[in-house]
Amino acid sequence: MKRCKVCRKKPRLERRVNNEGVLFCSDDCYDDYDHSPNDMDHPYIDDYEAIRFVYIDWMENYEDDLYKEWLYGTPRKEELMEQLDEFLGEFMDYYGLEGRDGVFSAEIYHYVMELEQLKVVMKNWKADEKVLNKRRKAMYEERKRRKEEEEIWG
Ligand SMILES: [Zn+2]
Repeated sequence: MKRCKVCRKKPRLERRVNNEGVLFCSDDCYDDYDHSPNDMDHPYIDDYEAIRFVYIDWMENYEDDLYKEWLYGTPRKEELMEQLDEFLGEFMDYYGLEGRDGVFSAEIYHYVMELEQLKVVMKNWKADEKVLNKRRKAMYEERKRRKEEEEIWG
């Protein structure tokens, strides 16, 4: 597996590249590298940064969000899927390109495919009873703690 150009760590969820395909583990390492010419002028940079950000956000939060329907009644899974669909709808050009127009288009296509896969994962997702009970308990504890705080502090 390729490593970050700056710190040599293995890039994970927050990996990013510059328009020459140089690999970084994070925005910090990307910013520390002084040889990413013209990235900010690249026609795909805004879409690349947008989809990378959204991808990281969904991967970190989708399961918490799915449990919210069970814990709080909202948002519903269908609403989350619609949100994701709507977002991906703005990337239709990149579906057609299939990543063939340079490094950023390849990255964007990669994220599009990952998010399409996430849609399947979410569709088939079911709450795990044990996890759900744990989260319910944590929710009640939190509510109790807040109520007690309110009673003390007014
Ligand atoms: Zn790094």
